[in-house]
Amino acid sequence: MKLVFATNNNHNLKEAKQLLPDSIEILSLKDIDCEDEIAETGSTIPDNAFIKARYIYEKFGMNCFADDTGLEVDALDGRPGVYSARFAGPACRAADNIKKLLTELKGIENRKANFRTSICLMIDGVSTNFEGRVDGVITMAEEGENGFGYDPVFLPNGYTKTFAQMSDEEKNAISHRGVAIRKLVDYLSKLEAPVL
Ligand code: IMP
Repeated sequence: MKLVFATNNNHNLKEAKQLLPDSIEILSLKDIDCEDEIAETGSTIPDNAFIKARYIYEKFGMNCFADDTGLEVDALDGRPGVYSARFAGPACRAADNIKKLLTELKGIENRKANFRTSICLMIDGVSTNFEGRVDGVITMAEEGENGFGYDPVFLPNGYTKTFAQMSDEEKNAISHRGVAIRKLVDYLSKLEAPVL
């Protein structure tokens, strides 16, 4: 089976290739000569994953999947959510987003937050959604050098290290994206299994 992964994120692409069985060939947007900026106009994380998968399916007629991730902070009523990448403005860097987040949470005791990843798989025009979520708290200051995005300020529940203090393996084992991808892998492996 061939599946397009509708992402421009090379890290996510590599991770999916590592986790999916060899019987499934993953094509990137580059592999199908798609240079389009797919507008993420959804108001929820699952909506955005669906929009990206539907775009590729309708334009290229290929089975595919797409993902979307956001950080949802309780005290901010779920923000930044779908705006996680551009929380501090259209062309901002991760450091700007973290600064804005810590500023908005200044003096607020409730630091609960979660990362959520939604993966939309589209096969023959039928979509299936896979969700991964990890709960934790936003730290008072940045800790750690690894990872990306909000990793330096996200402390998963039950751990003493932020995502940015963990190795890739440690983070992937518990992360929102790891959980969602493993659900997708499980589903696809069953589809691929021969019917006896
Ligand atoms: P995307 O949907 O994977 O592009 O993620 C949107 C934004 O959420 C990213 O630009 C990051 O700011 C943030 N984000 C997504 N996944 C993670 C993660 O694993 N750690 C920290 N931040 C993340």
